Amino acid sequence: MTPEEFRTNGHKVIDWVADYLENIEQYPVKSQVKPGDISATIADHPPEIGEPFEELLLDVQQKILPGITHWQHPNFHAYFNANNSHASILAELITAAIGAQCMIWETSPAAAELEEKMMNWLKELTGLPADWHGVIQDTASTGTLVSILTAREKATHFNVNNHGFSNEKLRVYCSAQTHSSIDKAIKISGIGLTNLVKIPVDQQLAMVPHLLEKAIQDDLSSGFIPCCIVTTLGTTSTTAMDPLDEISDIALKYGIWHHVDAAYAGTAFILPEYRHFIKGIEKADTYLFNPHKWMFTNFDCTAYYVKDKEALIQTFEILPEYLKTGTRGKVNDYRDWGIQLGRRFRALKLWFVIREYGASGIRTSIKEHIELAKWLEYKVIEHPDFEMVADRTLSLVVFRYCKEIDDTKNDAINEAILAKINKSGKAYITHTKVNNRYVLRVVTGQTNVKIQHIEKLWAMIQESSKSI
Ligand code: PLP
Repeated sequence: MTPEEFRTNGHKVIDWVADYLENIEQYPVKSQVKPGDISATIADHPPEIGEPFEELLLDVQQKILPGITHWQHPNFHAYFNANNSHASILAELITAAIGAQCMIWETSPAAAELEEKMMNWLKELTGLPADWHGVIQDTASTGTLVSILTAREKATHFNVNNHGFSNEKLRVYCSAQTHSSIDKAIKISGIGLTNLVKIPVDQQLAMVPHLLEKAIQDDLSSGFIPCCIVTTLGTTSTTAMDPLDEISDIALKYGIWHHVDAAYAGTAFILPEYRHFIKGIEKADTYLFNPHKWMFTNFDCTAYYVKDKEALIQTFEILPEYLKTGTRGKVNDYRDWGIQLGRRFRALKLWFVIREYGASGIRTSIKEHIELAKWLEYKVIEHPDFEMVADRTLSLVVFRYCKEIDDTKNDAINEAILAKINKSGKAYITHTKVNNRYVLRVVTGQTNVKIQHIEKLWAMIQESSKSI
């Protein structure tokens, strides 16, 4: 492709992107293809001769889009959103154009310095302690792994890094509602899943602090080393909030590393009225949230914070000859702040999003999303055939059809409602289990969701329940 052709094709791509986003509601939200359908349309062998760019773009439209689930559709209410925005997409294009690999300050000083600034902006925007140090990780799963590994090293005086495990019997504590990324981190870290202690939850599905303390005491008397506590703010199932302040006190009392996972909920703390959930945050050791979920910044981008920067760096630093520089120690070389050496320039999209929206623009959108969830919650409460099954804390509504006396029948009806809605292509919702019952989850946090989308969804849910 010549530079001139690139310019022409580039304009076409931007037009394609603008059209796609503008007309996204014409696509089925959840891809309707069967396994193998897309593969059958893709050539089995690479072309020997380059093909015209027009054909590539045409193939995206004809062969790829049918197999895409449209996460940017306003009726995407599944999982947690992975939002983008125009500003974020344009920044990502520039990032790709610059094509920098930002492993150390010297390989692109602007990337390192903008990353530090953006992490400071996010601290200020969401009410986090000013003296924390921030770094962008790819995902929350990686962030949690980084924290658990740092905790492991702190607890073993950096012994495992150097000599492997000897006889340390480490324990990690989280609630029974914690995200599966914690389990994964425990497996990878070598601590072992049997040493992940799942603390029971209360009626609100939040960790019970006195049971946490009891588990720690039992472990201490059995010769275990409590290594880390993981608190979740906004659990995946129901956005339950673990009582951070109380858990922090327990972590401090026993000298245990304390990691806080606010992957989805963290964006909401841009609204001061939700900051009671992070009361006591300054007592924690690490914290993360995902701008790539709710803050209009396309996947991937996790804001990760650590109080003791030296513990993090000591866990991850490496210094081969080819990475030695004259600026070492004077600047942030982020390769030592996490797992991978090579790093994408992710700070640019945060800079674009925050500047284009402005803090007030982000606050307005987040507030609107929460209002939509409140609207749906109210409709559920009002309706005799439906009930809320968990407290709505932010923009997730967890509820179920409950008209039948026999709960197994209710379960089957809820499952059928979900299948019907997702098959219709008009909206996409997911489920969870609460108290062993099959229940529906609706997230109202898509970038472009408006009241008409939630009204349409609610009408479909009611209709589906009647026709089953
Ligand atoms: N933690 C919580 C509470 C989540 O809800 C999720 C994903 O939804 C994760 C962690 C994992 O996020 P990621 O995909 O960024 O690893």
